[in-house]
Amino acid sequence: MFSYRVLCVVLYAAFASAFVAFPASLSSAEEKPKPQVLFTDVNIFDGTSDTLAEGMSVLVEGNLIKKVAKGDIEARDDAKVIDGGGRTLMPGLIDSHVHFNIVIEGGLDKIEASRWDRIAAVAAHSARDWFMDGFTTVRGMGGMGNGIKMTVDEGLLVGPRIYPSGSYISQTSGHGDILLGSQRDPQSSNLVRLGVAQLADGEDAVRAAVRKNFAEGASQIKIMIGGGISSEKGPLFAAQYTDGEISAAVEEAAMRDTYVAAHVYQDAHVRRALELGVKSIEHGQFISEETAILLREKGVFISPYTNGLTPEALLHPVYGKAGTPQNIKSLEFQEDSKNFVDVMKKVKPKMVFAVDVVNLTGEDARKNRDFEKFAFARFFGNLQALRSMTSVAGELAALTGQNNPYPGKLGVIEDGALADILIVDGNPLEDITVIGGNPKFFDAEPRGEGIKTIRVIMKDGKIYKNTLN
Ligand SMILES: [Zn+2]
Repeated sequence: MFSYRVLCVVLYAAFASAFVAFPASLSSAEEKPKPQVLFTDVNIFDGTSDTLAEGMSVLVEGNLIKKVAKGDIEARDDAKVIDGGGRTLMPGLIDSHVHFNIVIEGGLDKIEASRWDRIAAVAAHSARDWFMDGFTTVRGMGGMGNGIKMTVDEGLLVGPRIYPSGSYISQTSGHGDILLGSQRDPQSSNLVRLGVAQLADGEDAVRAAVRKNFAEGASQIKIMIGGGISSEKGPLFAAQYTDGEISAAVEEAAMRDTYVAAHVYQDAHVRRALELGVKSIEHGQFISEETAILLREKGVFISPYTNGLTPEALLHPVYGKAGTPQNIKSLEFQEDSKNFVDVMKKVKPKMVFAVDVVNLTGEDARKNRDFEKFAFARFFGNLQALRSMTSVAGELAALTGQNNPYPGKLGVIEDGALADILIVDGNPLEDITVIGGNPKFFDAEPRGEGIKTIRVIMKDGKIYKNTLN
């Protein structure tokens, strides 16, 4: 009894002192000011404007942009000052279509044959490589849950903010049916077991697949509703998923306050997606003017890669190889997408920048990204390219609603926005090469990690690269 009482007293004392200590430590946390970084003498591309705002300063406090103003801004004495020397300050770039878990070179067979540690290690490399190119945010369009994202957010791995979709969801014999001929049971597939792909047939199975992705940290959902170029089982002409199956995914995503993105090319399939409530059209290059108008009216985003529209696309190590199934599909793609640029320029829907690197790593992935920047700007102009890489992509990120893993404004330089910032040599509104655009594609010279003219990379208020001082 006595010992019980002593124990109670000891416990009580510990409890009480914890309570006394708690408010004290709270108030000291409140008193500790958030670090400040002051950028001076910069010309700002704010994510939307067609001209640079000259002679500006930007004050970052903690992970937010506290103030943007002309001339000087007052900061605390302990603020770190970075003199931009008249260079351009702009939002961090956003690639709205990545697949870090399916970039291993050699095609899907090679990835299917890879163990998890190889897949994860290559994905970690990609996260860092995209980031050092100035991509402070990426949207995973299928193939990864939140594992890499968590590792980056914890500071263990250098990489961008990641909006994961979880596994991509496909019907059997759809674009995401990655089973090899010998694998009749989905569970015999490495990529299915690892959660890179899910095969789901029927409304209930689609619902379960969506829920599984949310359980693995998806911020939005990716489904395949038409054929693709890299896949062999989904011909480009064929529709995939019934209205009921697509609606099931859309309803499940809406219950999570977020949205469905759909892989789709054909005009009729895009229209069906729009009518069923899909909010992001992945690719969509066969879209007609009428459908593009509907897309704009519904405020739906389109996320096209443009390198596939160029003659240089046939330099691609896989798609360019004459006579392969991917090459035949690439030629079909080029024929069917020939009105795309004109339609986009005329209708002006919300278009994001989306490189869609698959089966490419290291230098090859860099060449793909650099040429995509160049091609996009050549087709649509530098301003549209820059908006698509920043403010428009930031709007798309915000479609994740209460499911947004990074609440706050992305892709803009303004008071209160998340502090994802680049400083670059030169003016990207006039010269897209200053952010890495390269007129050469797979014939480009290897360049190593990072882009030299991107001098400062800040994400969430933290500086990861600074070659100014
Ligand atoms: Zn893709």
